[in-house]
Amino acid sequence: MTLNTTTANYRPEIVAHSRSVEQLVAGKATSDGAGVKLTRVLTQPLQHRLDPFLMLDAFGTDQPEDYIGGFPDHPHRGFETVTYMLAGRMRHRDSAGHEGLLQNGGVQWMTAGRGVIHSELPEQEEGRMEGFQLWLNLAAKDKMSAPWYRDIQSADIPEFTTPEGVTVRAIAGTSHGIAGAMQRDTTQPLYLDLHLPAGASFAQTLPPGFNAFVFVYRGQLQIGDKLVPQQRMAILKNDAGSDGVILHAEAPARALLIAGQPLGEPIAQYGPFVMNTQEQIFQAINDFNAGRLVSVE
Ligand code: FE
Repeated sequence: MTLNTTTANYRPEIVAHSRSVEQLVAGKATSDGAGVKLTRVLTQPLQHRLDPFLMLDAFGTDQPEDYIGGFPDHPHRGFETVTYMLAGRMRHRDSAGHEGLLQNGGVQWMTAGRGVIHSELPEQEEGRMEGFQLWLNLAAKDKMSAPWYRDIQSADIPEFTTPEGVTVRAIAGTSHGIAGAMQRDTTQPLYLDLHLPAGASFAQTLPPGFNAFVFVYRGQLQIGDKLVPQQRMAILKNDAGSDGVILHAEAPARALLIAGQPLGEPIAQYGPFVMNTQEQIFQAINDFNAGRLVSVE
């Protein structure tokens, strides 16, 4: 076992009854920002089913024209964005004067809270750009909290390898006793990047009430009797009596395993604003138009 955090906390996860796959989702090819091509894997119709997660975009291309425009200045309010870069460099700047560079293997965790205006622009003119952006909802009580962000360099993401040879990058939550880079009280997100060698299985305990999904981005995975092909999201059933999930790879595979505690609150979305009511959405649009949606303390 290798570990760049302490090994003392490592403990095996035992899953007796794995969740099954409820649905396979291919996602929708789309573009966002200034013409960035991406696949929207978690789309709006799935927001209630996968509460507290609102969106997952996957992007991956060697063609600069697919990403070079980036995401110029745009606002957010009411949720968190988690950008995980597998390859490439993206610079972000926001209305409070913060700036950072997100690159190979790193994560930017941004809490938009009551509002932020930011840009996310590629800092490369050629080469591969690949990664994911996940939107994680905030509870009603936290939607107007102060904006916040953290750049997490690749080396600062806790990583460990199981006895079966599965490398786990723990972005959020806790796996096998190892705390991930981020913890969140209310939604308790688990966000793992899993690299499975041929023939390996991986078990992760999950509270039955948590909504969970797997996105396979290399190879394919077996979950129960279902094969999950590359570029597919498997929504995991909240099976009564299940205590987690077991993934198996016949050939090398890579996947994200994401889970969280549902908020069970109304969701009102208009583009980059996600609130609980239509009235709050109008307020967000008015605040943005009036220049009040900036991240000043
Ligand atoms: Fe953004």
